[in-house]
Amino acid sequence: MRRPTVMNASLKLLVIEDDQADYLLITRHLRRAGLTVACTRAASTLELAAALETGPWDAVLADYYLPGMEFGPTLDLIHRQWPDLPVILVSGAVGEERAVELLRLGVGDFVLKDHLARLAPAIERCLREAADQCARRAAETALRESEERLRLALEGGDLGMWDWQVPDDTLVVNARWAAMLGSRLAEIPPTRGAWEARVHPEDLSALREAFAALLEGRLPVFQIDHRLRHQDGHWVWIAARGKVIGRDPEGRPLRVCGTHQDVSERRRLEHELRQLAITDPLTGAYNRRHFIQALETETRRVQRYQRPLTLIMFDLDDFKAINDTQGHDRGDAILAAVVAQIGARLRGSDTFARWGGEEFMVLLPETTLTQAATLTETFREGLHALPNPGPRTLTASFGVAEYRPEETLDQWLKRVDDLVFQAKREGRDRIVGAAP
Ligand code: GH3
Ligand code: MG
Ligand code: MG
Repeated sequence: MRRPTVMNASLKLLVIEDDQADYLLITRHLRRAGLTVACTRAASTLELAAALETGPWDAVLADYYLPGMEFGPTLDLIHRQWPDLPVILVSGAVGEERAVELLRLGVGDFVLKDHLARLAPAIERCLREAADQCARRAAETALRESEERLRLALEGGDLGMWDWQVPDDTLVVNARWAAMLGSRLAEIPPTRGAWEARVHPEDLSALREAFAALLEGRLPVFQIDHRLRHQDGHWVWIAARGKVIGRDPEGRPLRVCGTHQDVSERRRLEHELRQLAITDPLTGAYNRRHFIQALETETRRVQRYQRPLTLIMFDLDDFKAINDTQGHDRGDAILAAVVAQIGARLRGSDTFARWGGEEFMVLLPETTLTQAATLTETFREGLHALPNPGPRTLTASFGVAEYRPEETLDQWLKRVDDLVFQAKREGRDRIVGAAP
């Protein structure tokens, strides 16, 4: 796809809309929101197919009900040609349930036609997610290349070797085995203990279990990824593989031979990829996709164990004014500062995510409404304590809702969203809570 564009550049938008008046309304709204846009309208599948050819596009805005076009196949058509292209549903009326289903199908966001003020922020968010996606792809490519290098290393004999005589427990290694850990061969005593002494404490029991499983015949091969300490103190990820190559008449292993391979780079890339997939790049909070997963996991747990679970949602107050007076970059920095400030108040079991532009969610397992409300008060005060972004203190409106085991996820989300809205209506910089 086209490289994701920053919001102040000109955006190339494809608008699927049969109604010319609605089309004009949408484009007018975007220009009024300060976006520079070049829009093209498609009113039929044929026009859409032709327009897709003339891409790349930054985003598609699509109406839901179109004569002669079904939404699902339309979405497929777009994503077959431009897999990462954000599609935002702009529609008159789609049920909440259907809308959530569409999000799962790959629609980036949806905006009601009588809430067009939400459209520009929705586009903004989708473009950021697309940029995120690009970074993820790059990391995936790097991972593939690293795997290829490992394969070549294997073929090129760049492997550490070990040879374990089981009865007297001597273990002999080659020079490459030692070199991976920054040592010379002469520095490695011929014992299994010399290996174990270098193992990361968290990996030691898994290593011993792998040896035991092999010796007891529970597993045909020895296979483990574990960390070993390099001479200079850092940890090296080593993939160890081994096989029994000699047995006594009773079938007990006499000799086990195996290899060591440095897989640190692959582990690092895998970790990076996992992180990229679940975090919001601007703030480092979790992204919306990961948060929905956490919601699903935690609500299932609640239904099984009847434990309290509470959700806090907050939306920064008058953030548009901060952007308008301080500039977008300063706005970005404030979002990051908000995440650092609130994140410092959370436990490891809490999940903190950027839900939208300046909307955040915190999921608190094992927490009642009352406890969450107390915590939220510290959030509110924490925001006040942030360096002043302008003439006014930074504030937010908070909704706090404890989960009701009989409600659906969507109902719970809607409930907390309504509470935020109520807090806004009642004057902002406040917390509105609802008992389970
Ligand atoms: P309210 O108190 O009603 O919430 O007012 P508001 O101005 O915060 O509300 P609104 O939703 O109208 O505006 C949100 C603003 O947040 C507009 C949008 O440009 C800005 N925004 C969204 N995402 C980002 C971002 O990533 N960076 C910056 N700097 N601004 C963002
Ligand atoms: Mg706001
Ligand atoms: Mg908002």
